[in-house]
Parts: sequence; C-alpha cells; structure tokens
Amino acid sequence: MEAPPTTPDRTPGTPRPAAPTLSVVVPMYNEEDALVPLIDRLRPLLDGLGEPYEVVAVDDGSRDATPELLHGARRMWPQLRVVRLRRNAGHQAALTAGLHRARGAYVVSIDADLQDPPEKIVDMLALARRDRLDVVYGVRSDRGTDTGFKRGTAGAYYWLMRRLAGAWVPRQAGDFRLLSRAAVDILRELPEQQPVYRLLIPSLGFRGGEVDYPRAARVAGETKYPLRRMVRLAVDSVTNFSAAPLKLATWLGLASFLFCLLMMVFGLVAYANDVTVPGWASLFVAVLLLGGVQLICLGLLGEYIGRIYTAVQQRPTYLVAEDTADAPAPPAPGP
Ligand code: UDP
Ligand code: MG
Repeated sequence: MEAPPTTPDRTPGTPRPAAPTLSVVVPMYNEEDALVPLIDRLRPLLDGLGEPYEVVAVDDGSRDATPELLHGARRMWPQLRVVRLRRNAGHQAALTAGLHRARGAYVVSIDADLQDPPEKIVDMLALARRDRLDVVYGVRSDRGTDTGFKRGTAGAYYWLMRRLAGAWVPRQAGDFRLLSRAAVDILRELPEQQPVYRLLIPSLGFRGGEVDYPRAARVAGETKYPLRRMVRLAVDSVTNFSAAPLKLATWLGLASFLFCLLMMVFGLVAYANDVTVPGWASLFVAVLLLGGVQLICLGLLGEYIGRIYTAVQQRPTYLVAEDTADAPAPPAPGP
C-alpha cells in the first residue's frame, strides 16, 4: 500500500494543541456524495458553539473520492482531522478507531449520511453538562423515512436483544451518541475484538440520558449496510451478549428425545397389532430432522468458537494509515 505523503513534522518545541471540548467522530465508507452536505451542515453548527472542537473523519478504506475530498476540505477547515484506515474494517471498527483517537472532553459519534440531525449534538452536550452524564443516546423516535424492511429488521433486532441480553438494551438507539471523556477512556481499556457499541455502552451502566429525534432519509448515496452486514452485526450482537443459543442444543435435544419416545410407543403398538407399514417416510423425516438440528447446533458452536479464535489471535481490528493530527496544519488557502 502506498505510504501517506510525508510532511515535515511540527517544529520541535511547538506545544500540541490543547484538548478540544468536543470531538465529533464520523466513520465514512464511500461517502463522496454525502460529504459536502455533511460539512455544510456540521461546520456552522460547531463554529457556533464557541468552544474548541475537532471533527475526526474516519475514512474506512473508501474506494471513491472520499479521502481526496476530505483532504481538500481540511485546507479550509483546520478543525477537520482525517484518520485514514488501511482497508475497510467495517462501521464498528471505524468507530473504534475514531473513539481511540478522539481527544475531546466529550465525544459524539454520528453517521456521515445526515440521517441523524447534527443539530442535536448541541442538545446532547447541554444535557450531559447539566445532568453530569457519561452517555447521551440519540433515540430514533420516528423511523418513518426508513424502508419497511429496515424498520422490520431493526424492530426484530432490538426485540431479540432485549429478550436475550436483558431489559437494559435501549430501544432504537443506534450509533449517534455522546460520551464523556471518562466513558471513552473506559471503552479504550476494553479488549473487545468485535465491539457492538450500541449494546456494549449501555451494558456498562453509565449514567445516561436520551435525546429523541426523527430519523431522516440518507442525504445522498446508498446504504453501506447491505443485508450481509446487517446479519453480521446481529450475529456479533447475540454472541457478544448472550450464551442462550448454546443452551438451545440442550432444549432441541430434549424435544427430539421426547418425540422419539412417542414414536417408539407408536412403533411398538403398530408392531403388536401386525400393522406392517413400510415406514420409510417416518424414518426419512426423523433422519432429516435430527440431521438439521445437529447442524444448527454445530453452527452455533462454530460462531462462539470463532469469537474465541479471534479473541485469542488479538489482531488489531483496524490499522491506521494516516492521522492528520500527527502532521502539521495544512497550508492556508491562497488569497
Ligand atoms: N460505514 C463505515 N464502514 C463500513 C460501512 C459503513 O464507516 O464498512 C459508515 C457509513 O459511511 C455511515 C455509517 O457507517 O457513515 C452508517 O452506515 P449507513 O448509513 O450506510 O447505514 P444505515 O444507516 O443504512 O444502517
Ligand atoms: Mg445511514
């Protein structure tokens, strides 16, 4: 992979800029169309806060013009910081990179597609300060603009996770949230390999509040969460927070054992009454059923063993190719 352009480091002795009050972490993957609307909406808002801030744009190995556009934007917007990952690591890993590198006293994570209104960042910050909270969740009070499919799968996801993991799972809270420095530092200490932040953060029992908002439609481009990734997130969520599926094998085994006992009685009665049915259908069904049940259980075991495997390998979940905070400020735009 091509090395990032090397620029002379900051002059020795120049102090690092003081930690900003607010970091806004934006993971983005192929978001070239959403970038300009995002910057146009985010910048006036953050400038209006009147406090030092940084925007940590995590480019998750985009293959479109996202990195070039980000670097272009940085020339006009010194608070924009670009963290470029070596390859596409996925939304949660990109979020991890951003959380690990953010320096702010408060850290807000938000999607790049403007589905979550950046204006709510101001409310989140005010609420966190007023009530001394460690987390403020953005809760989607209205998902009217999402497709029926997305709403249905999201509803099923939160329902299942509440059943499996417990009532602490917040309803309809995605990855738009504010975290205090203390919460971010705790998250950084966790050795999670495949974190699912929307569950991990509430599970830690921080003092939390909520800000409601209606979910808007994507400003531009297409969803970067195809069905395959949605299923992956759901499987990660379940294996991360519940061992209940492992116990499923016991229940399925017990159920098929009882069923077999009934069938045995039936077979013996039939035999005693001289009913000599060929019996291939029941045999066939029983073999298929048991085979299916066993494969399901093996697959479930495989999911958990896979998690143990990745945990043991301890490979980094993301690799940073470039972080503009490590380089000197870009040259100011010409007159
Ligand atoms: N994203 C990312 N890496 C990926 C997939 C998505 O950084 O591999 C980002 C994406 O650019 C967006 C956010 O994660 O900022 C949420 O993705 P998206 O809006 O496509 O998901 P949806 O809202 O459709 O669930
Ligand atoms: Mg989106």
